[in-house]
Amino acid sequence: MAGSCAPGPRGGGRTGKIPAFRGVFPLSTGSAAPIRWRMPPSAAWRFCPLCAAALVERNLDGAPRRWCSVCGFVYWEHPHPAAAAVVFSEGRILCVRRRFPPEAGGWCLPGGFIEPGETVEAAARREVREESGVEVEVLRQIGVFGVVIAFVAARPVGGRLIPGFDALAAEWFPASAPPRLCFPTHQAALEAWAQNGR
Ligand SMILES: [Zn+2]
Repeated sequence: MAGSCAPGPRGGGRTGKIPAFRGVFPLSTGSAAPIRWRMPPSAAWRFCPLCAAALVERNLDGAPRRWCSVCGFVYWEHPHPAAAAVVFSEGRILCVRRRFPPEAGGWCLPGGFIEPGETVEAAARREVREESGVEVEVLRQIGVFGVVIAFVAARPVGGRLIPGFDALAAEWFPASAPPRLCFPTHQAALEAWAQNGR
């Protein structure tokens, strides 16, 4: 489908009929509890995932951690590295509109968490494909912003613009007039990309 990924008219990305997000995780098959956490803070962990005993707070390595006094499990809370891309073609950049919290309904660059074993580039390519249907080639790294998102510059090489499961829309915007991005890190990366040459 080479060529079909080229930027179309504004609004052309709103293909497919996807029901609005109602605050209930659509993948749930049992009790559809409202989403409270995407990445729960350590204080929200109540039971040991290994032995189901109650977790308690304990100082380890200079910070309070959730600790299991029965089996010794420790919830080491770490950042979740992510990758995102500025996809540029014919004067336009690719943005996606978020379906899920945080910032549901906001526009951002396509991206997401890196899976175990993935490189930044592979994660960026996969996330762009999943969220927009567009296949990309990574051109260079833009930089690392926030905790911790690696941004890359990329260009489309195929695919078809269709918003993915976790996107309400995927659209091309003029690079000179992008939407306000809902994450300061994405906004900063986009500005760095624009300043350092496309
Ligand atoms: Zn345990």
